[in-house]
Amino acid sequence: MPAPLPRPSILSIEPYVGGESKIPGVNRIVKLSSNEGAFGVPPGAQAAYAKLATELHRYPDGGATALREAIGARFGLDPARIVCGNGSDELIGALIMSYGGEGTELVMSAHGFVMYDIAGRYAGSQVIKVPEKNFTADVDAMLAAVGPRTKLVFLANPNNPTGAFLPAAEVARLRAGLREDVLLVLDAAYAEYVTRPDYDPGTGLIEAGTNTVMTRTFSKVFGLGGIRLGWCYAPAPVVDILNRVRGPFNVNAPAMAAGIAALAEPGWVEKSVAHNDEWRAKVSDGLRTAGITVHPSEGNFILADFGTPARAKAADAALKARGLIVRAMGSYSLPHCLRITIGTAEECGMVLDALTGFLRSAP
Ligand code: PMP
Repeated sequence: MPAPLPRPSILSIEPYVGGESKIPGVNRIVKLSSNEGAFGVPPGAQAAYAKLATELHRYPDGGATALREAIGARFGLDPARIVCGNGSDELIGALIMSYGGEGTELVMSAHGFVMYDIAGRYAGSQVIKVPEKNFTADVDAMLAAVGPRTKLVFLANPNNPTGAFLPAAEVARLRAGLREDVLLVLDAAYAEYVTRPDYDPGTGLIEAGTNTVMTRTFSKVFGLGGIRLGWCYAPAPVVDILNRVRGPFNVNAPAMAAGIAALAEPGWVEKSVAHNDEWRAKVSDGLRTAGITVHPSEGNFILADFGTPARAKAADAALKARGLIVRAMGSYSLPHCLRITIGTAEECGMVLDALTGFLRSAP
């Protein structure tokens, strides 16, 4: 009997691999593979989440009103222009399903975030991956890749997995070079970690009235990857489309409560960012001194280049032997690299120890 077949573009998708948290035979695991916040869950968010346990028979507020108001107040944005999602992944997918699809093109940089490629293929869009300059999105090359069928351009800033950053003027130049009927999606999942003054996560371009969307997440600095909570800020017509296509109750009640509490956690972001600045520099410098190329990163992770896939694999094994799980980069066509999340001071020390030891034994 013939099996039912999906649309052909779907069969070209490689299943996303992530979130692994076990190493056979190793008891103490340190997970540095998903760019989660270094300090765990904000205490206020834990309490707010637990408090909702007796309310779980109720549907959540489908409009996420209180959460949108809290986000609006925190970031100085109009709550009516915010849409919340089950992780920003959901919103990325919804934008691509709404504006992309068969007969259209989606433009992204060669090592841009993998969800754009997955959701693009799911929708049936032609995904165009544009070569980068030194692992950084090349605005001229991206503009040159845009054609009459291009409907969406995606830019993660900072980018995962490269950590690369584009200053506001470059992002504005990208926007200015696009037709207004092309939607520019600026994925600012790591926005809070950026300390550079020349950064616009997307807010400025959206306020200026351009057809630009900014996506954000609670999964990184706010320490809530497990509850799946993201949001976007968009022009009113895009908000209208997302509200048509999203699930009626796409964000669950405990997630909303935890998100609101996380936004209110005193000093949380400041403490996390200061820690990240300090330890990203220490880990990067330590690895560079040991002879590894580390790309400059504005996120809470670094991309370490071991030169060859075999050496990266051996380094990964050396880390695993100590219980350290980092992300192999084969699925990003970077098999010679490992992406390492900046964890606690102790965890960063373990990474440095393991890798400097590995390099001494296998220079
Ligand atoms: N964008 C980027 C650049 C990311 O790195 C991630 C998480 N890996 C996401 C979006 C998705 O985040 P969320 O947990 O909100 O779905």
